[in-house]
Amino acid sequence: MNCFDAIVVGSGPGAAFAALGLRGKRVLILDVGFDGAPAPHLNRNVYELRRESDDLFPDLIGDEFQSLHNLHRRPISLKLKAPHVSFIVRGWPELTPIVSNTFEGVISLSKGGLANAWGAGVFRFNDRDLRGFPISEQVLLPHYDEVTREIDIYGSFFVAAAFS
Ligand SMILES: Cc1cc2nc3c(=O)[nH]c(=O)nc-3n(C[C@H](O)[C@H](O)[C@H](O)COP(=O)(O)OP(=O)(O)OC[C@H]3O[C@@H](n4cnc5c(N)ncnc54)[C@H](O)[C@@H]3O)c2cc1C
Repeated sequence: MNCFDAIVVGSGPGAAFAALGLRGKRVLILDVGFDGAPAPHLNRNVYELRRESDDLFPDLIGDEFQSLHNLHRRPISLKLKAPHVSFIVRGWPELTPIVSNTFEGVISLSKGGLANAWGAGVFRFNDRDLRGFPISEQVLLPHYDEVTREIDIYGSFFVAAAFS
């Protein structure tokens, strides 16, 4: 019989880093694990794709305009409705519904979670963002540094100019 020291539920970024923190132990990761159909023709740099493809409309918007369905379907990021990524949000309204009048939630039950659609922006909360929370920037710093090392960030992006 297989024995594990820990079971991590989910395989999104939160779970992945929880499992990483358990390195050296026998860890079982359980996930609902919806997956998308393979699309090897899209597995390239987006600039090359745009340069070399005649028509990306069916892939990015969808033959049935799926990406634009916010007009008459649940209003979520258009990115989550495109044909090759809609698996990310498959089934959640039925399987784990959220009832709220004050916010519109979105849940992923896919392998890798919402990180399948993320924009690769890696921002750190500072003390101003964390005002009122029982946790400080100083406490988070070593963990941010570890994430930075693990996901191999190699650049920086300054937004100050955009807000000045
Ligand atoms: C369009 C878009 C763009 C984004 N861009 C950015 C960005 O640029 N920068 C940034 O920092 N963040 C971004 N985010 C947010 C980021 O993707 C999420 O904050 C992050 O994925 C949350 O990680 P998580 O591990 O908490 O949850 P998720 O990524 O949601 O993972 C949850 C996991 O748990 C599994 N699960 C759920 N319920 C169960 C169950 N009952 N049993 C078993 N498994 C279960 C799911 O299958 C899934 O794998 C973006 C999100 C979206 C939608």
